[in-house]
Amino acid sequence: MLKKVKCLEMRNREEWFFLILLFLTLIAIAIIAGAIWYLQVVGITSITRFILTSLSVILSVILVIFALGFGSIVLILILERPISWLILPTHLAVEYLFPLAIFAARLFGYSKEDLLRSFIQISNRLVGIRGIRIKGEDLLVLLPHCIQKFDCKYKVTSDVENCRRCGQCAIDKLLDLKEKYGFHMAVATGGTLARKWVKEIKPKAIVAVACERDLASGIQDTYPLPVTGVINIRPEGPCINTSVDVDDMEKAILKFLERSD
Ligand code: SF4
Repeated sequence: MLKKVKCLEMRNREEWFFLILLFLTLIAIAIIAGAIWYLQVVGITSITRFILTSLSVILSVILVIFALGFGSIVLILILERPISWLILPTHLAVEYLFPLAIFAARLFGYSKEDLLRSFIQISNRLVGIRGIRIKGEDLLVLLPHCIQKFDCKYKVTSDVENCRRCGQCAIDKLLDLKEKYGFHMAVATGGTLARKWVKEIKPKAIVAVACERDLASGIQDTYPLPVTGVINIRPEGPCINTSVDVDDMEKAILKFLERSD
């Protein structure tokens, strides 16, 4: 156990940023609940006392659920194994504390992008710990449209096989991986098309490439479907001629695939 905690300490510290902000958010909720409780004790009329008591009870219940969710995330990361009965509080904490954590990040002068990156890392680890193993045909690799060379005239959003493999964007190398491992691959111009591909292909897991913001919202939108997020490379700024590290993609894909040996 001690060894595992030590190993956890040594992991990328960026991951902890999200957890620390979730913890600070919990503390803030606890302070507000405590302040409301104190106000009701010194409440002037019985009506204000009743309203403040109800408010502090509601906040306390929310606090307990979120604390359980937060505790379960930390526990799963330390034990490095999934705990099925903690899935719901974990999801509730991530889903509902996340916007508050973004607010806290801004309050403490941190960038939203740093928090989103940290969230994606934690989410990827939680998905990895679930130990999901599937066949290539059950995996979907979802790419953003901006990964295609800006002036390429072939319409890969309707079918990625329309790519002529000229090598000017990462789609060429990703098609090599697709042929090697037999997964589905699709290009989406936005959330609506991404949802359409998911509905049509019905994958059991997704490896998605996008910027921090789109990945974080995509991971939350598709829950409980397991999604590993790979942050794109943006040499010319956002949304144009983006790319992805193909080795990172292969590692993310292989984490889901059943081994043939
Ligand atoms: S590899 Fe070439 S043909 Fe294929 S999508 Fe990229 S630019 Fe277009």
